[in-house]
Amino acid sequence: MENAVGPSSPSSPPAQLAEVWARIRGRLREEVGEVEYRTWLRQMTLSAIQGEEAIVLLPTRFLRDWVRGHYGDRLRALWQAEIPAIRRIDFRVTPEPRATEPAPAAAPVAADPPRQAPRPAPLRAPEAAEAPAGLAEPLGRSAPAAEARPADPRSDWTAPLDPRFTFDTFVVGKPNEFAYACARRVAEKPASPGFNPLFLYGGVGLGKTHLMHAAAWAIRESGAAEGRPPLSVAYMSAEKFMYRFIAALRSQSTMEFKESLRSVDVLLIDDLQFLIGKDNTQEEFFHTFNALVDAGKQIIVSADKSPSDLSGIEDRLRTRLGCGMVADLHATTYELRISILQAKAQSQGVPVPPKVMEFLAHKITSNVRELEGALNRLIAHANLFGRPVTLEGAQEVLHDILRAHDRRVTIEEIQKRVAEHYNIRLTDMSSPRRARNVARPRQVAMYLAKQLTSRSLPEIGRRFGGRDHTTVMHAVSRVAELMQADSAFAEDVELLRRMLET
Ligand code: ADP
Ligand code: MG
Repeated sequence: MENAVGPSSPSSPPAQLAEVWARIRGRLREEVGEVEYRTWLRQMTLSAIQGEEAIVLLPTRFLRDWVRGHYGDRLRALWQAEIPAIRRIDFRVTPEPRATEPAPAAAPVAADPPRQAPRPAPLRAPEAAEAPAGLAEPLGRSAPAAEARPADPRSDWTAPLDPRFTFDTFVVGKPNEFAYACARRVAEKPASPGFNPLFLYGGVGLGKTHLMHAAAWAIRESGAAEGRPPLSVAYMSAEKFMYRFIAALRSQSTMEFKESLRSVDVLLIDDLQFLIGKDNTQEEFFHTFNALVDAGKQIIVSADKSPSDLSGIEDRLRTRLGCGMVADLHATTYELRISILQAKAQSQGVPVPPKVMEFLAHKITSNVRELEGALNRLIAHANLFGRPVTLEGAQEVLHDILRAHDRRVTIEEIQKRVAEHYNIRLTDMSSPRRARNVARPRQVAMYLAKQLTSRSLPEIGRRFGGRDHTTVMHAVSRVAELMQADSAFAEDVELLRRMLET
């Protein structure tokens, strides 16, 4: 074999080989497109060239088989175009990081930047307990750092856990003690009879997401504490579930999607109400649900209503959802609001006089998120101006929020303001037009109507051209999601809210 490339006769030194490999991957990427490349091929690394063979590593058996089956021939052709001596590609599963088996004979070649050995799955990695990684990556981690980690196909569709949302930081009171106890119980003994699925429901900002993340963190940590590999936990919103599913359908990778979903030990789906009316996605969720429960895996679901009140959900799914433990989070009481304020002020290390807390707990009754927001604003002000938090100061700083709670805005005012703001006709608020430039402002108006008035969803729907309450509900959740994702949009909505409140 005159042209063989190997450690004994390295006709291409590793640096050059790395370039060749980069070129091959670049071509493949161009050929298959970014999405497909990212889904299947990004995690490929070149281990070595041995004789006529290129040894290519992939992190899981599933990926290895898939890449071999779908891209094997093409990869070989690309290799041959670069180095004719290469006749075969040996696709292998990346050895475990601590495996003792000797490295392949040839020197490893620096390939993709993340050269460290890919781990099986972020949450199975024992070190995940100290350093949040993968699923549990803290929000706002910089993109390059995330890029440097070997990507798991799952990390694409699971959402990070918020490090602030743990059982320790959850304040327990009458309205939420049952839900809290259930979440704790499930975290201690996942998939025990009677608690699977755990269905948590309650209004906006009452702590559903917080409890779910807390359970997810605890389940992960319990593995480390007991010296066994942590269970793999996947958390995502139902909306994300839907998008991933639709994307998988489009890119014909539903197999991979299903496989990765069904390989988790604990699946948490937040805000299930997003699946209302999405038949395909519900169907897929139903099957995933059954497969996991049958395999003795735990499912935790949250929604804004109980299973029996969730309209637009297929009956068989509704039945399944309600057959484990159903726990609701009630609206907060004055006592709970005080306890939450005390806990939050203490964790921030800023003294807040009891009078101020009482004032807030009396005035801001809608949900914990708003209460927290008000307190944070006071603390930020105090820090900024180096002044202690006082009752007078609080009244001043929070006058907009407080006024909103005193004064009732009408739906007509909201529609008028929003229409003006987005420069659409007032009649479009109740017209059937679905063009986005009209539909989005209408959703914003519905959202504000829900936030600022005490009207029920069906009532709001009626005022927007006789729309169904599920349409309003969807609008409210959609706007809330968008506000989280898009700060410019959030500012816009906040501005409208402030204008309406004053
Ligand atoms: P939901 O998902 O029900 O809309 P979240 O879980 O996102 O509500 O809670 C909104 C905010 O309020 C979060 O910042 C959360 O930490 C906080 N929160 C809600 N309930 C509690 C509680 N009992 N103790 C401490 N913080 C809470
Ligand atoms: Mg939530």
